[in-house]
Amino acid sequence: MKKLKYFDISWFSSVDGPGTRVVLYLSGCHLRCPWCHSPHSWEISSPLFFFESCCHKCGICVDTCPNHVHSILNGTHLLDRSNCIKCGICIENCPSSDINKWNSGALGFAGKTTEVSELYQLLKPQLELLKEIGGLTVSGGDPLLQSEALSELLEICVKEGIHTTVETSATLGKTHIQDLLPFVDNWLIGMRPYKADKSEDRKQLLENIDYLANHNPKSITIRTPIIPGYTDTQSTYDTIIETMQNNNLDSIEILPYNPYSENYYKAMGLNFSLTGTQPPDNEKMEQIRSVFTSAGINAKIVN
Ligand code: SF4
Ligand code: SF4
Repeated sequence: MKKLKYFDISWFSSVDGPGTRVVLYLSGCHLRCPWCHSPHSWEISSPLFFFESCCHKCGICVDTCPNHVHSILNGTHLLDRSNCIKCGICIENCPSSDINKWNSGALGFAGKTTEVSELYQLLKPQLELLKEIGGLTVSGGDPLLQSEALSELLEICVKEGIHTTVETSATLGKTHIQDLLPFVDNWLIGMRPYKADKSEDRKQLLENIDYLANHNPKSITIRTPIIPGYTDTQSTYDTIIETMQNNNLDSIEILPYNPYSENYYKAMGLNFSLTGTQPPDNEKMEQIRSVFTSAGINAKIVN
């Protein structure tokens, strides 16, 4: 049986597919959008997280790390992640950290690799509870990167009568979509055309939307994050409307920018390029919604 790497589970979501859902967030994403609120999903193998506010500056990690990644100078804890071999020794020894809970202490690795059958057993009790009113949504990261193993999980869900949704950028090769197609009830397709979009990603997305729409256009909902300075432009809306009309798609969800991710970038030692950017207000979101409804598309704001 194959294994899946995931970095989070939400047990009760009302905004990620029809009804009430368990949401499984898989690791790995090739796009790295500058506004991403889950940068810890990018690498299949997690970087070392360091949350400064949880650190007691006891120096145990400095003494136990075999590769001298940690140092404390003049009361400041510094990390040289380029030397980290991800052995986990510092996390195991840190009095403020728990190797099984990556975001509840000073140090951690995001994500866990689990056999598909074991993962299903973990999800099963909640999925059984929600069976009549929702189901399982698999998000990420981009779930297509683990499509082979994911198809095994979704096949079990289908056998057990669990409704399935996959949220993806749909910018990977069609074979990944084909792996999953027999086991997916509906698709949430992220579409966020903006100036610096790679043309090959856009081309693949259009090819995949065309392929999925030919199977069942009603199974597709487009999802677009409204990011100030990136996707809040008329050209973005026009591109989406044209794609949707060409493929007989009639449903879009627009999501205001989520500004609460900077801490993750900091904890991973990464720069965050949207510092200070504010989410669009309700009035602006309503205006954008009306752009789509005027084009005959069902548009919903998802907060
Ligand atoms: S990260 Fe943990 S072990 Fe290292 S100084 Fe901070 S509290 Fe101590
Ligand atoms: S994971 Fe290992 S190599 Fe990396 S900082 Fe911790 S102890 Fe050092």
